[in-house]
Amino acid sequence: MKIHAREVIGLVLIVVGIGFEKQWWTIPREWSPWKPLHIADPITPVTQWKLQRLEDDSEACLAAIRTAPEGAVEYTPLAPYTPVEGCALDNVVRIQRTGVSFNRSFVASCPLAVAWVLYERHRLQPLARDVFGQPVVSVEHYGSFACRNIYHRANARRSEHATAEALDIAAFQLDDGQRIEVLHDWEGDADKSRFLHEAQETACGLFGTVLGPEYNAAHANHFHLGMRGVSVCR
Ligand SMILES: [Zn+2]
Repeated sequence: MKIHAREVIGLVLIVVGIGFEKQWWTIPREWSPWKPLHIADPITPVTQWKLQRLEDDSEACLAAIRTAPEGAVEYTPLAPYTPVEGCALDNVVRIQRTGVSFNRSFVASCPLAVAWVLYERHRLQPLARDVFGQPVVSVEHYGSFACRNIYHRANARRSEHATAEALDIAAFQLDDGQRIEVLHDWEGDADKSRFLHEAQETACGLFGTVLGPEYNAAHANHFHLGMRGVSVCR
């Protein structure tokens, strides 16, 4: 009797299907597109997809923020409002602090807030410990919300900042007081430069759009971490 490859594949698929149905095996939560996002779960390629699904679902997004461990984020959920004519905001929160303090609180789309907390916990702090042996304690940003088009051009698309879906990061401060500035340290001190390059690189694939000093002169002094797009990293 000749066994055809097609029959074998069919049989395997049936067994796999029954396996999931009977829960003989399960996909870890962080790999399952259908399971809710938890802040403590490791980041996988599925995480970005989960983040993007939170854009239109403020309830699911707030539920994701609430999975953050104690002290990981202090925030206030905001009702939809229009701070500036033409730039209505919904599914937004005000971030007071996360595991780090900020130069000032900021309004962030809820998925941006979740992405930042994930990034800080799983990427930024392990990197800081690796390079400097200590954590980042504060972050200086240039803001998240600005009701404008890209590069302030009248005929350009609306910026991610117009919906509070992007945060511009200018500098980091370590536990011992050392400052690391995108503008001065991108190509300076070896450790600081390495830290900044890896901080940008590891933001890719979590945030939808990551822009830095090598993209253009407008980004010489900050990282733009935005939620639109899929792994746009320049
Ligand atoms: Zn920006």
